[in-house]
Amino acid sequence: MNTQTDFDLVLFGATGDLAMRKLLPCLYQAHVAGLLHPQGRILGVSRSEMDTAAFREKMESHAKIHIKQHFSEQDWAAFLQRVEYLTVDVTRAEDFRSLGEAVHGRKNTDNVVIYLSTAPKFFAQACENLAAVGLNADHVRVVLEKPLGTDLATSQQINDDVARFFKEEQIYRIDHYLGKESLQNLLALRFGNIVFEPLWNNKYVKSVQLTIAEQLGVEERGEFYDITGALRDMVQNHLMQMLCMTAMEAPKSLDADDVRDEKVKVIKALKPLTVESVNENVVRGQYTAAGGVNGYLQENNVPADSFTETYVAIKAEIDNERWRGVPFYLRTGKRMAGKVAEIVLNFKDLNQKLFENSVVAPNRLVIELQPNETVSLYMQVKTPGAGNRVERVPLGVDLGKAVAGRRAEAYERLLLDVIDGKLALFNRRDELEAAWEYVMPILDNWAQNTQAPHGYAAHSWGPEAARSLLAANGDKWHEEQ
Ligand code: NAP
Repeated sequence: MNTQTDFDLVLFGATGDLAMRKLLPCLYQAHVAGLLHPQGRILGVSRSEMDTAAFREKMESHAKIHIKQHFSEQDWAAFLQRVEYLTVDVTRAEDFRSLGEAVHGRKNTDNVVIYLSTAPKFFAQACENLAAVGLNADHVRVVLEKPLGTDLATSQQINDDVARFFKEEQIYRIDHYLGKESLQNLLALRFGNIVFEPLWNNKYVKSVQLTIAEQLGVEERGEFYDITGALRDMVQNHLMQMLCMTAMEAPKSLDADDVRDEKVKVIKALKPLTVESVNENVVRGQYTAAGGVNGYLQENNVPADSFTETYVAIKAEIDNERWRGVPFYLRTGKRMAGKVAEIVLNFKDLNQKLFENSVVAPNRLVIELQPNETVSLYMQVKTPGAGNRVERVPLGVDLGKAVAGRRAEAYERLLLDVIDGKLALFNRRDELEAAWEYVMPILDNWAQNTQAPHGYAAHSWGPEAARSLLAANGDKWHEEQ
């Protein structure tokens, strides 16, 4: 796939957690799978003073331990030969001269990727300093890690800053959910099978649920989490991408802009919330102590009076012909009863009385994205024996088992795509800002709201108020159906 394209990947933040835990191990996997051009170079940069030998040693103790499969000392040694290191402080323009020389000095520099795995406060200065040494030419791509802002205004500011030096088609905004095979599979499932598309609309679908549930709490990240919260951490980005992939129209092609045009239409068709309507359509929750597990307010580095949400549920509506009238329930939470990311389509009830009993919502399509990659279609079948009773059973496929082939981690897929210049799995500016626009009334409501978040017991499925959000439409969360 990528073996034909030589590349120079400049990895800012190379000594950081993300690089050591994900990016470098994923690049190793791509290397072992033969997906990196033999001459492709990874140039780690960060503030710390060290040479290439010392950085490779750091990778021994930090990156190597995160490689879960296909490890061999021989492959690792060969992989390390690709890696070099340069000290560059983003705030020191003079450091970029040696970076420019290191990149321009390579024979083949027509495929340069700059990955900014550093705090976004550095993006503007990094881009300006890169441009000063010609590292914003058309053949250079820049990758931006999340978070891209904390609200619409800060997101626009980051985008404006970067746009001063890079054109939109050079900018790769990461949302690692888009790198997940299971999310990409949604397009094949929807548009590659005639059996689903005719039913995928408000004539047949009663409601849709999108869930990202985590069992972990905030662990040692209380300080970061308390200024972020679940809405910014999960809803504005990952859940919004799940919503787009579930609800979008068929794109003209799978080219980046055709796909992104359709996704942005979904976000723009969302019925806008207002600061007032947030009270009826959004539930803000916070986990409380239960079963010997701390509540959020007892976690390290969390203020005892924090209102930060560890759970959000939203009742959204897409105001277009396909979806008008169908509630889309989005929810995410920490310290939930299970760890799952899933999409559930509840089809409407059948209006017939042929059988002795009736099953509520007989047809349901459950697409689990993680930890398993499964698709289950629930349907009614006859219970054996005399009489005509029916019950609901799943017809399921485990994609991990049913489809041969190596399933790469999301970051590996995204790194390979950026090296290859494929933008489809990255966020476009208008998409990102439309998502921020949608969630802004929620942030504004919460900033003024003096009512504490709804409590939910650690390792439960969320607050009672989130059940009421669905009850108005006669719906129940998936685990209660
Ligand atoms: P981190 O562990 O704190 O590492 C920060 C990196 O930035 C280090 O390599 C550091 O270099 C470098 N750095 C800091 N100041 C610098 C400067 N003035 N000039 C050059 N380099 C500088 O952070 P991280 O967890 O890897 O996260 C990096 C980015 O990815 C953040 O924006 C974060 O929000 C985002 N992100 C992280 C994760 C994750 O799982 N960690 C997940 C998603 C997104 P020195 O060590 O040499 O100072």
